[in-house]
Amino acid sequence: MGNVASARVVELLARLTADEKISLTSGSNSWETMPIERLGLPSMRVSDGPNGARGTGWNGTNAHCFPCGTALGATFDTALVEEVGAALGDEVRTKGARVLLAPTVNLHRTPMGGRNFECMSEDPELTAQLAVAYVNGVQSRQVACCIKHFVANDTEQRRMTIDSQVDENVLRRLYFRPFQHAVRRANVRSVMTSYNVVNGVHADMSSWLLSGVLRGEWGFDGAVISDWGGTNSTAQSLRAGLDLEMPGPANKRGQALKHAFENGEVAMADIDHAVTNLLYLMEWTGALDSSGPDEEIYAESDEVRQLIKRTAVESFVLLKNRHSALPLVATSSETIALIGPNVDRLAVMGGGSAQVRTAPLGRLIDTFSDAMPNATLTTAPGCSTRRELPHLTGTEFVGGQISYFDSLDCTGDTVQSLPMRRTYFMVGTDNLHVADKYRFSARLTGSFVPEVGGEYVIGLATVCPARLFIDDELIIDQSDPTPGNTFIATGSTELRATIHAAQGHRYELRVDYINTPRGHVPVNLHGLSVGVERVESIDPVEAAVAVAIQADVTVLVVGTSGEWETEGTDQESYNLPGCQDELIGRVAAASKRTIVVLNVGSPCAMPWIDDVDAVLVTWFGGEELAYAIADVVAGLAEPGGRLPVTWPHNLTETPAIKFHPSTNDIAEYGEGLLIGYRWYDRCGIEPLYPFGYGLGYTEISVSEPRRVDTESIEVTMTNVGGATGSTVVQVYAMVDAATLEEPVKELVGFAKAWLAPGESRRVSVAIELPTWIADESGLVVGQSSGRTINVAG
Ligand code: BGC
Repeated sequence: MGNVASARVVELLARLTADEKISLTSGSNSWETMPIERLGLPSMRVSDGPNGARGTGWNGTNAHCFPCGTALGATFDTALVEEVGAALGDEVRTKGARVLLAPTVNLHRTPMGGRNFECMSEDPELTAQLAVAYVNGVQSRQVACCIKHFVANDTEQRRMTIDSQVDENVLRRLYFRPFQHAVRRANVRSVMTSYNVVNGVHADMSSWLLSGVLRGEWGFDGAVISDWGGTNSTAQSLRAGLDLEMPGPANKRGQALKHAFENGEVAMADIDHAVTNLLYLMEWTGALDSSGPDEEIYAESDEVRQLIKRTAVESFVLLKNRHSALPLVATSSETIALIGPNVDRLAVMGGGSAQVRTAPLGRLIDTFSDAMPNATLTTAPGCSTRRELPHLTGTEFVGGQISYFDSLDCTGDTVQSLPMRRTYFMVGTDNLHVADKYRFSARLTGSFVPEVGGEYVIGLATVCPARLFIDDELIIDQSDPTPGNTFIATGSTELRATIHAAQGHRYELRVDYINTPRGHVPVNLHGLSVGVERVESIDPVEAAVAVAIQADVTVLVVGTSGEWETEGTDQESYNLPGCQDELIGRVAAASKRTIVVLNVGSPCAMPWIDDVDAVLVTWFGGEELAYAIADVVAGLAEPGGRLPVTWPHNLTETPAIKFHPSTNDIAEYGEGLLIGYRWYDRCGIEPLYPFGYGLGYTEISVSEPRRVDTESIEVTMTNVGGATGSTVVQVYAMVDAATLEEPVKELVGFAKAWLAPGESRRVSVAIELPTWIADESGLVVGQSSGRTINVAG
């Protein structure tokens, strides 16, 4: 068990005192390991992950933002994902870090999963192959991946305590596979344990998972790191094989581990084992040779931007295209109405720890005008989908400042004061100068200067007790905050009040915030948000319909955002938030042609599907999303994605519906092996769109699949359409299903190919039959249309 440590690591270990070793088993702060100055041992920085490298600050240095996990899944393109990985590896280094907390390889069990957007697919084989590519890419830069979350972290509900009850066979055949492949085929250097309990034992405390399966069976020789605040015991987790508690400073380790060692609950050999794994990771990443984490910078790169845009285009899934409504023509002189809440607020990433701070993003109204310079563009938001009110910023928020105090009532000397450009912060406490990082107060001040007079709704959401005053009058009292979904579900609900405000008047805003330890908050994160929005008197749907009626074609840009699809909470509804369903229905009824651009991280209901001409799913496509959408809509690029998840009509037909939401802190995986398409096939349910589905701008026929040998099949593909395009060939093994619990078919290989009009080519697809599938099983080839062809032997 464990790694074969280098002579250097062995020698270093021998020079460490017992106390130093103990200190190394927890982080020093939110993102760094403990340095040992006496020996010149530097600390090593890690960074989230997975769609960029954020670095140490929630609002810190800008970073490139890549397409989300589902988008990577939709590319079905291992070479491209490896390229993305390599670029991410470089990004990590620009943040002075050595480990990327990624990829997220949990599976889509239900469309409601809050973090589905981070995960790649419902299918373990697709996820596993892409995970291997991602890890190979990142690690080619001498940056380690910390693949997460091991394991069965497929819901965000009560994620710290929920017990995922999963049959061992199901774990092995589905949920383990991406991790197992990343260990065996990509030599992933670290693994993050999940918050949840797995069959009665917290993942970080499970010696079966960590020492038995991960190290013992798969031969993992890297470091095991806890999820942030997910170390659940002192002795048991260390003995089970959890090497590093994060974040620091130590909670379950430090003094507690010292006592456990003195009491004989843990042996020095256990501590040595954990420290060796950490030092080995530091050696592998080069951290050991460094003088500590470098400064964080934003390495803006056109090359990376191009890669992000290309990946987005390769991930877009065209679900419907009646009468070739798409693409429009780049030379079009039509009037195009751009309607929907996401026109101005494109969701380029999901919410939670995957968030990065981007440079200013392209706006659709500009990218459309560049891609179709002769068109006339009109626009209307149609409705708002904000979950929380927008923060004050710009000229409406003047003289903003936050001051910190060592007292618990904003009295005494100011210990630190920072300018604030908007009425929002979410920060770790690492860089605060307060004496006690768990007990301090903060006061946010500034003037609200309304550009327009009228009635305003004002909202306050907070991690800790807070009160909002305007001109010294208490307006919102969150002294006893009700837990809600804000701040990665560590914050409160947003409490709202209505005020009347005069144009140009200065209203003095003040929020007193009292930071005390909170049992439910796992990390040293604190946050506050003041939102303000004017009450509109016009009906926005009506206004959008009026714009659509005048146009030749309407492009509805609708969807969710990182407020709705976020870590910390599962989604509330399968329907799009706000009144978007009504908006789409009414606008489609009034439009000559309606194209829906669906900006979501995972499937949603489409009650309006028969009313619209085209649907293009763009996922959370990263920072170049506005450019990628314009190119694909204008026909300058072809949407190359295929569904990495089944798209159901409604929740009732989905596999885990009987077990989700979970009850009594138990997530029963009662659907067993029948995740995703395995369920729809077995139950004979035809979903709205099947796994693997997606159209293009050309037609590619696939014929004569032939099994070459046990490891590959060959197909001939012909582009019989008029444009260059791609398709994804998917090979499924038809399982000789003895029981109703077994899937009918399983993906065993796939390949993507691009063809010019008229081009015909033989394409070889590597296949690998898992041990539970017999060699003589029938194979079928499926293409994007959902049609399948038997493979000749
Ligand atoms: C998430 C991890 C993440 C970590 C650090 C946790 O809440 O579950 O995925 O890497 O925070 O931000």
